[in-house]
Amino acid sequence: MLDAPYVSVKLLFAILAFITGLCVGSFLNVCIYRIPREISIIFPPSECPNCRKKIKVTDLIPVISYMILRGKCRKCKNPISILYPVVELITGLLWLLAFLKFGFTFETVAAIFLITLLIPVAFIDLEFMIIPNGLVITGLIGGTGVFLFHALYRPVIFFDLPLWYAPLIGMISASGILFIFALVTYFIYKNDGGMGMGDVKIFLPIGLILGARLALLSLFISFMIAGVLSAILLILKKLNRKSAIPFGPFIVIATILIIFTGPDLMFIY
Ligand SMILES: [Zn+2]
Repeated sequence: MLDAPYVSVKLLFAILAFITGLCVGSFLNVCIYRIPREISIIFPPSECPNCRKKIKVTDLIPVISYMILRGKCRKCKNPISILYPVVELITGLLWLLAFLKFGFTFETVAAIFLITLLIPVAFIDLEFMIIPNGLVITGLIGGTGVFLFHALYRPVIFFDLPLWYAPLIGMISASGILFIFALVTYFIYKNDGGMGMGDVKIFLPIGLILGARLALLSLFISFMIAGVLSAILLILKKLNRKSAIPFGPFIVIATILIIFTGPDLMFIY
C-alpha cells in the first residue's frame, strides 16, 4: 500500500504535468500556425492572425482565455479557431496520462517528448499535407538523447527490447518499409498524392524512441486505421480514388496508442 505522503506528491506532480502540458500545447499552437508558413516560432510574440495586434499575456492562458474571450480576438472580434483550446487540452491530457502511466521514470520523459513532437506533426499534415523537416530534426535530436540514455543505462522502457541497438533497427526498418511503400505508390499513381517523404522521415525519431517491435507495430496500426477510414470514406462517397489524404495523422494516432498500450496491443492479433 502506498503511504499518504507519496500519494499527495504523485497527485501534485500529476496536476503539474497537466498544467505544463496545457502551456506547452499553447506553444504547439504557435508551431502549428507558424512552421508551415515559415515564420519564426520565437519572434514576433503571439499576435492575432487577423488584425496582427499583439496578444496580452493575460489573454494567453491556455483554454481559460479562449472561454473568457468567447473564442474571439479581444481587439478585432475575429473568431479564433476552436483548434487552439483543443490542441492545448489534448497536450495537457496526454502529458497527464503519460505521467499517470509511467510515473517517476525515464519512460515519462521519452513518452512526453514523442507525444509533444507528434501533435504538431498531425495538425500540420492535416492542413498542409507536409511534415516539416524542422520537426523531423527536432525529433532526431531528442530521439538520439533517448537512444543514448537507453543504450547506456538500460532503463526498463516501453520499447521493452533489452538490446541496445533495437532502436536503430526500429528506425531503419520502419522508415525503410515506408520508403519502399512510397516508391511503389509513386510508380503506380505517378503523383505525390500517395505516401510522402515526410511520413518516411518521421518514422526515424519514432523508431529511435519506440524501438524495433513497437515502431513496426505502430506502422502496421497506422496502415490499418488509414485503410479502414479510407474504405468508409469511399463507401460514403466523400472520397474518390484520386483524392489524397495525409498519412501523418494516422501515424500519430497509432504511435500515441502504442505508447500507452505498449506491446499489449500486439497480443490482440
Ligand atoms: Zn484580432
